[in-house]
Amino acid sequence: MQRPPIVVVMGHVDHGKTTLLDYIRKANIAAREAGGITQATAAYEIAHGGRKITFIDTPGHEAFSAMRSRGAQVADLAILVVAADEGVKPQTKEAIKIIEESKTPFIVAMNKIDKTGGNLDKARNDLMAAGVLLEGFGGNVSYHGISAKTGEGIDELLDLVLLAADLENLTYDPSAAASGFILEASRDPQRGIEASVIVKNGVLRRGDVITTPTASGKVKILENFLGKMAQELEPSSPALVIGFEKIPMVGEAFKTGDDADPKVAAMAAGTGPRRFAQPKANALNLILKAGDAGSLEALSTVLHGVDRKGGKELNIIEEGVGDITDGDVRHAQATQAAIIGFKNRVEKGAKMLADAQEIIVITSEIVYDLADAVEEFFTGSRGPAVAGELEVLALFNQEKKEKQLVGGRVGHGTFRDKAAFDLVRGPLGTAPIAQGRVLGLRERKDEITSAETGKEIGVLIECSVDVAVGDHLVIRK
Ligand code: GDP
Repeated sequence: MQRPPIVVVMGHVDHGKTTLLDYIRKANIAAREAGGITQATAAYEIAHGGRKITFIDTPGHEAFSAMRSRGAQVADLAILVVAADEGVKPQTKEAIKIIEESKTPFIVAMNKIDKTGGNLDKARNDLMAAGVLLEGFGGNVSYHGISAKTGEGIDELLDLVLLAADLENLTYDPSAAASGFILEASRDPQRGIEASVIVKNGVLRRGDVITTPTASGKVKILENFLGKMAQELEPSSPALVIGFEKIPMVGEAFKTGDDADPKVAAMAAGTGPRRFAQPKANALNLILKAGDAGSLEALSTVLHGVDRKGGKELNIIEEGVGDITDGDVRHAQATQAAIIGFKNRVEKGAKMLADAQEIIVITSEIVYDLADAVEEFFTGSRGPAVAGELEVLALFNQEKKEKQLVGGRVGHGTFRDKAAFDLVRGPLGTAPIAQGRVLGLRERKDEITSAETGKEIGVLIECSVDVAVGDHLVIRK
């Protein structure tokens, strides 16, 4: 079955994204229908020429890139807004990059033509220079001059949206379990957790079990974008869902049905996080967990004070109280974050998962050790994923510090000969106390070059510190 297009509006600040979205909403949603109710979702739906179009009502590419970073293709089409009087600006270029990288089909709205007397030359020339090949100029990107202020050209722009949608042949399967994306989520003091979602396939129904990688629940209340109760909603409808047990993350995919991954559901049953932020590409993304609220406060304060060499941004994705769970590890995996734990433990399942997924988990009872570890992230002396790790089980010969012969078991990954290692004392992930090098590996009597998980081997190492039983030798990639 055909479904309406989902459209995102992007472009430089002040080029008129909000004005355009407001104009389209006002001009196309009958006041009677809206009934004075404020829009309930982060998207709205209009009818144009007897067909529906859904607009994602969060202009600005931040929301868009947050979704993109999770591999989500929320929007089917983009409208790139370029002010005709100003032309291409830095954020226009960023928007073009995001649109192209995500392979989202797009059209261009050259806005503010009331200011240029309809002249589109500047916008056109700038766009061509930025590599956007416009229709009639050797390319196939359609465009139209508009004024979001007077409404001129907007009907034609919407015609172009529908034409572009036709080329994409957007369909859905009405018999499939509903799936789509989370646009926004928050906790309402009266109603509980509200998630603004967009359905991309199947039919979303009241009573459905709904899950995302970080949250789950049941659709107890389903509302359309005007806040009216609905029994079911079809693609590409925006919907408001009440019934999540934990706040899902913006941009996550959701799905419904009993076959939704039980692990995902179980994970979502953990204690709720204190707050969420979006992962950022060029930042150090961290999840903070501490044994109690006071410790969490201290950890957060100390980490925010860490010297950020290299100018990278510190981006705390989540803060929470309690032990580190497999839910935290999954969240770290989804957001490419590292986990910092203060005065708490790593649950067994979480440790196994972190090892398997090569997620960095650093815990300590001393907050300044954690600050040091985070500083190492910034200086670049830490960070690469673990390639192999050996737990020291026996000491054979430590007469010369430079050359120690130890026995151990490969905890995970591949332990290689001639590799540099971090010597970690205490829980894995703790800041290393020294570095060293592997000089030789033996399995029984044989010399080997590498050993896989589970193998018990003898290792000749060079290290300035006496290795102790229980230490870990960690090789990074
Ligand atoms: P955004 O940052 O891209 O969302 O831009 P806004 O929608 O907030 O618009 C920025 C400014 O440009 C506001 O003062 C708008 O009133 C104005 N503006 C938007 N569209 C037009 C237009 O078509 N013509 C004129 N003259 N001004 C416009």
